[in-house]
Amino acid sequence: MKYNKKTECVEMSVAELCTASFSKVEYSKNDLDNTAISEVEKSTEGYIKNLPVAKKFSFEAFDIKLYGTVDGYFEKRDGVRVDFVKSVSHREFSGKIDEGYWAYLKCCAWLICVRDGLQVVYVRTVFRSAQSSEFKIAEKKFYLDELDVFVKALLPKMKFLIQQNVKHETLVRPSALDLTFPYEEIRDGQEEMMRGVASVIRKRRRMFAQAPTGIGKTISALYPSVRAFGKGECDKIFYFTAKSDTAREAYTAASKLFAVGAKLKAIVLTSKDSMCCSETAKKGGCRDARYCNERDCKLKKRYKDKAGAAVEELVSKQNGFYASVITEVALKHEVCPYELSLDLSELCDIIICDYNYLFDPYVRIKRYFENSENSDDYVFLIDEAHNLVDRARGIYSASVSL
Ligand code: SF4
Repeated sequence: MKYNKKTECVEMSVAELCTASFSKVEYSKNDLDNTAISEVEKSTEGYIKNLPVAKKFSFEAFDIKLYGTVDGYFEKRDGVRVDFVKSVSHREFSGKIDEGYWAYLKCCAWLICVRDGLQVVYVRTVFRSAQSSEFKIAEKKFYLDELDVFVKALLPKMKFLIQQNVKHETLVRPSALDLTFPYEEIRDGQEEMMRGVASVIRKRRRMFAQAPTGIGKTISALYPSVRAFGKGECDKIFYFTAKSDTAREAYTAASKLFAVGAKLKAIVLTSKDSMCCSETAKKGGCRDARYCNERDCKLKKRYKDKAGAAVEELVSKQNGFYASVITEVALKHEVCPYELSLDLSELCDIIICDYNYLFDPYVRIKRYFENSENSDDYVFLIDEAHNLVDRARGIYSASVSL
């Protein structure tokens, strides 16, 4: 979601609107999904795939532009069909269809009805089994009135996020534009490094910096990145570290920037193991899906209903977030601290975390680094990058026990 300052309009995708209420569904498309869409296209006359749809409307004091992509659209004699096509596992293929898929379809169907002046529309979930390549199609019929009520009912849950997005562009970003350097003196080498960082962000290139200990590399990387954020040259700054003490240094550098007027938000992400507070998970480890699920962990039950208030409390309280404060608020609201830290990170501009969150394919934060439409606007600051060699060797090596 983004507030467009020029048009004074909040641009929100259908996926964002649905994710706020239906967390389990992955709306982005991968290669297998695209193959499935092409196969449906080949077998259906008049099929239009990947159709973009959008509609502007008012919600309270805000102008909203809701946009999405309809995987497939075609007309039959009795009416228009709108498809959501997905390649799914055998379990999902044979199980009940998640409400999140219907929610996405209802929003897209509403956009189509409004665009084409339709009173009724049919929506279809088209699942292709990743194992057998079989297709399973389920269809429902909706009237414009009920779709209208459905979409409008999802919006109040987005109100806080909408407000934060407007604030982000009108208050937070401008605060970084003319930010002064947070120390009295600029040490030897710092100016050169800062110029280099500013230049590569502007040109969207890479830079390797080698500098002696003690010149203040952390602030020399962070300060120009924050200024670039102020100019709109990037949207999020990720600071990757190998150790917790360097993460703390990066957090301290961010705090110095807050002290000279930057209104950005920074978060230090900590591993799931160390943030997990579930008693049941302690027996089997929170990485085990037998314990880390809605049925067995009370902190995951009704997470989506409770997390919004926890995020609101944290965001209204302060600019910087460490595991301790996140855990305290998470337990007060009875939600999973780890999940909360990830949700909170979406409202943060500086994310400080371990290398694994980007480089390890199993641990990588999906919401940012897999099929994210915003990933071109991220700046990656990789601290002590020489450590990556050993880390990568560990990540990409396999072992077997005999
Ligand atoms: S949901 Fe959170 S608190 Fe519960 S087991 Fe999983 S990681 Fe632990």
